[in-house]
Amino acid sequence: MTIHFLNCFTCNARVPSNWRTGTLCLLIESSQGLVLVDTGPGQEDYIHRPGIIRLFQVVTKVPMNIQEAAVRQVVSLGYRPEDVRHVVLTHMHFDHCGGLRDFPHASVHVHKREYEAFMGPPRSWTDFAYVRRHISHQPELILYGDSGDTWMDFPAIRLPFQPEMWLVPLYGHTRGHCGVAIRTGNAWLFHVADAAPVGLEEYAPQWLVSLVLGPHVPRLRAFKAAHPDIRVTTGHMWLDFFEGNQLTQKLS
Ligand SMILES: [Zn+2]
Repeated sequence: MTIHFLNCFTCNARVPSNWRTGTLCLLIESSQGLVLVDTGPGQEDYIHRPGIIRLFQVVTKVPMNIQEAAVRQVVSLGYRPEDVRHVVLTHMHFDHCGGLRDFPHASVHVHKREYEAFMGPPRSWTDFAYVRRHISHQPELILYGDSGDTWMDFPAIRLPFQPEMWLVPLYGHTRGHCGVAIRTGNAWLFHVADAAPVGLEEYAPQWLVSLVLGPHVPRLRAFKAAHPDIRVTTGHMWLDFFEGNQLTQKLS
């Protein structure tokens, strides 16, 4: 079994021009079929761009290459779109769940706080990155609430997959934002999504980081330092991550 690391949305800063990032989605071969963690934007978003993408294109340089859509990459890896049986969402911003309609057969696993934030009236400026049409096909939703369990020292919710996977609430970037921990043989991959800056690196003042990403960055940095055996990834990674040779990881 294997995890594939996919860049499903390239987004480059205008200034500094060497800030080039991709949006990391994980395609996991599990005993329950393919599990996709986040989708990036969907094919339809390339044809009928939602306002939030047009805004992104003003502020950043977005190549908008439809080949980056998760479904296209699933097919080019030799799978069929319907092989993706489950989508786990870290949160429901357009760049993380826009591709749901490309996988109409998949069950969608998401924290219920996140779904409520997505469906409810906007309460903070980050809520404007929700695009309702992304679930207009009415997928089967599997909503999770806090369970009292823990993964490492984090409150966490066990997902129904083999290899072992946990939804790890890291609220802040959005009201129901979660990370996902995946067992990789004897170790773990901890995808903290948008709870931490690109590559967990330090390049912006702490107040700005907590405003945009939530309060977890110091703890996640300490966690990474204390657990060098655990691979930690973020929702947006430097583009050279995707150009490297670590685009798959064996699970067992
Ligand atoms: Zn986000």
